[in-house]
Parts: sequence; C-alpha cells; structure tokens
Amino acid sequence: MKLLRYGPAGRERPGMLDAQGRLRDLSGVIGHVTSEHLSDRALARLRKLDPASLPLVRGTPRLGVPYLGISKLVAIGLNYADHAAEAGLAAPSEPIVFLKATTCINGPCDDLVIPVGSTKTDWEVELGVVIGTKAQYVPEGTALDHVAGYCVVNDVSERNFQLERGGQWDRGKGCDTFGPIGPWLVTRDEVPDPQALDLWLDVNGEPMQRGSTRTMIFGVAHLVSYVSRFMTLLPGDIIATGTPPGVGMGRKPPRYLKPGDVVTLGVAGLGEQRQRVRAHG
Ligand code: ZN
Repeated sequence: MKLLRYGPAGRERPGMLDAQGRLRDLSGVIGHVTSEHLSDRALARLRKLDPASLPLVRGTPRLGVPYLGISKLVAIGLNYADHAAEAGLAAPSEPIVFLKATTCINGPCDDLVIPVGSTKTDWEVELGVVIGTKAQYVPEGTALDHVAGYCVVNDVSERNFQLERGGQWDRGKGCDTFGPIGPWLVTRDEVPDPQALDLWLDVNGEPMQRGSTRTMIFGVAHLVSYVSRFMTLLPGDIIATGTPPGVGMGRKPPRYLKPGDVVTLGVAGLGEQRQRVRAHG
C-alpha cells in the first residue's frame, strides 16, 4: 500500500495509489493520514479497501509529506562503506546518530531553499524508515515489527555549517526545506528486503549518486534496535539511514547546489522526488 497526502501546502487531503499508480482520494475514509494510521492493525483496515472504489484524483496535484505526526527525524551518518571511503573517514564502529530539526520537513517536490550564508548546500539520497509502533529497547530480531514502511528522504546538508564550525552536525542538517520526505509511504509488506534497494540522485539530469542499501554498514533492523536504546521511537518517527557515495562534497572538485539547479532522486519501489533549488527570500 502506498499512502500519501496531496493538495496545496497546509490543505492536503489523504490519498493512496491504486494498482495502476493512479491517485485515489481517501478523504471519505479518513480525515488525514497521520501517525495513528501506521500500526499493523490500522494499516490492515486500510488494506481492506478496494482502491478502485475510491474517487480518482484528476491532474497531477502537489504532494505533501505522506502523513502527519513526525515527532523526530533521526538520521544516521556515514552508514555506507563506500560513502565513508569517499568522505575520507573511517567506517564507524557504532552508528553515528544525529537529529534533523522537524521544521526542515518538506514535501517531496517542493522548492529546496539555500539558507542565508550557505556556500556548501549538498544532497544525500536516503532510505527513510517509518516507525509504526512505539519502539523502546527493542531487540534486533523483532525491530522490523515496529516498522510501518519506507519512504525516500533527501538529507540535505550544508557542509560548512555541518563540519567547519565546530561541534556536532545538527546545525548543517536542520535548515528549512532540508528534509524532503515522500512522495509516498510504502508499507513494509511491499519491501520484503530493505537491504536490497537501489538508490539514485541526479542534479540537472546528471548522475551524482548511485548505490544500494546492500552496502550499509548497519542494516535497518540494527538501526531501529540501536536508536531505541537511546530514545523512544514513536509512531511516525523516521530514521534516515545514511547515504551512498556521490555527494557534492566528495566530488573532485566539490560541487554544491546553486539557484536554478534541479535535484531528482529516488529509491527502487519507493517513488521519486524532484526539487528546484532557489535562494532564500
Ligand atoms: Zn545523511
């Protein structure tokens, strides 16, 4: 099942994709897609619906973040062996955890805004793991039972803010619009192996990132278990699981985003995002 929200920002309506990939309106069934609809039981109720019986949405409306109610956007740094090598850094011995401010969350195809003072705004395609039920000290063996599904995340990063100003990374990770999520939430049953997904990202149609979740250092089940030892994961929380090689910082010479650039990205089976880059203001 692929759940989504469509319509103008702030006035989105709930929807789902049908078997042909057409948009269907869910507003006769639920008021909003929220974190309360992400448990296995709640998803099973929605799965009983026949998408063909729901109203067809005409045209190609804007898509919002696929559901409401994200209390935390947790991210994992340097989680791909080939990306750590590209960054010139040793592979970490345990996951590097940081938080992206929830105010950075953005629709999958909304504009990406370069913050004031930025010189090094960069891209990171990632597999996003959406929590369905509360996870607190969960063992790795049952960690995936707490996952509702998956989505594409662009962990947009300002490298000067992140790495050249001292201290932790959060300052370069949580700027407004730095967290595009979507286009839809794909439920767990449609992703039998989260460690076998290709990821890609292009800038102005030019290939930048190509990778596979196969080269993750710490897999999805380990990450859910690990993070749940340090903070309680609530329904709707997302873990962005790290990025494969090909970020702008790793290119020779480095390449960063500028107004007018168009970033397109996706994860196999999870849909695509497209962001036009613009200056602040
Ligand atoms: Zn990242």
